[in-house]
Amino acid sequence: MAWTPTLRPLEFRNIDERREVLLRGPRSTLIVVGRNVEPELRGLAVARAQLVLISLAVLGLGSIGGWWLADNAIRPIQHISRTAEGINANNLAERIDTASMDREFQLLATTLNAMLARIESAYDMQCQFTADASHDLRTPLAILLSHCELALSRPRSPEEYQVAIGTCLSAAGRMKSLVDGLLLLARSDAGASEHQRSSVDLQELTAETTELFRPYAAEHGVELQQVGQRATCSADRQALSQVIANLLDNAIVYSGQGGVVTLRTSCTSESVCLQVQDTGPGIPENAIPRIFDRFFRVDDARMRRDESSGYSGSGLGLSICKSIVEAHGGTLNVRSELTKGSLFEVRLPITPHQTEG
Ligand code: ADP
Repeated sequence: MAWTPTLRPLEFRNIDERREVLLRGPRSTLIVVGRNVEPELRGLAVARAQLVLISLAVLGLGSIGGWWLADNAIRPIQHISRTAEGINANNLAERIDTASMDREFQLLATTLNAMLARIESAYDMQCQFTADASHDLRTPLAILLSHCELALSRPRSPEEYQVAIGTCLSAAGRMKSLVDGLLLLARSDAGASEHQRSSVDLQELTAETTELFRPYAAEHGVELQQVGQRATCSADRQALSQVIANLLDNAIVYSGQGGVVTLRTSCTSESVCLQVQDTGPGIPENAIPRIFDRFFRVDDARMRRDESSGYSGSGLGLSICKSIVEAHGGTLNVRSELTKGSLFEVRLPITPHQTEG
């Protein structure tokens, strides 16, 4: 081995059959030449083998631990999705069990359970609505069929045919008004009601509708009064006149002979208001929360529309009114006292530039 004169051997060592030379290297280093490095290489090989084994063990343990953690983390999600998959129209009452879940998942599951409860109640209402609609259509349909069959069962006089056709006509008319009401509510549920808004004076519209109803009120022995101030708002004239007509019709019919119905319009800086007050039998306290429900009728002989014909009303009038008023961003409320009468109040938001007048 060649070395520069500065690398002078410091020491020579004889180990077994080898000879090691110790030199002084640059910058205070020592150089050993001829050292047997086999033990170090063997040590390195062992360390390498140990490292590989430890790495494999860490990898294995890490994978198992990771899989266990991930499995634990997604188990509640799997539970939620399994429950959700199993829920259909027949078991809408089923809920996700939140007892064994962590707080975060409990929150998610509770939110989903609340959503399921809302869907269940909407579905129940829809089923009830369909059942009520079918039931209400069945009665006039049965009247129609039986009168047609009876009229055709043998030859009859022109007068008899006239009576039969008259009955059929009124049954068909009842079915038409029921179907019209159902269609209107279905459209409003689907958000498809087209309200053509324009500036409407509630007082003027009420006066017009009241005049139309005067002969009808006289027939029922009811006095109509109209008071109040101009109340202009932005609304669909036709829809609003339907609301007034429905409320007025109820007030007249349920007031009966000797009753007084008062229509009062008023206006504040934010809203316009129409009150329809009657001196009828009033509505029982327990029926008031349900009065705007579809097909709801108070089960009381005094509150039936027309006892002679057995027709007790469709129970859709007030829900149609509420749906129209709410589509206009307004509210429809009732105050009522048994034997004293009822007061229905329609309140609609006013258009900003029409506060005075
Ligand atoms: P309908 O009058 O066709 O039965 P409505 O939805 O208009 O349907 O009314 C629902 C029920 O509310 C009626 O059946 C009646 O029992 C009660 N009702 C409505 N308006 C009055 C009123 N002015 N006075 C007393 N009861 C009323």
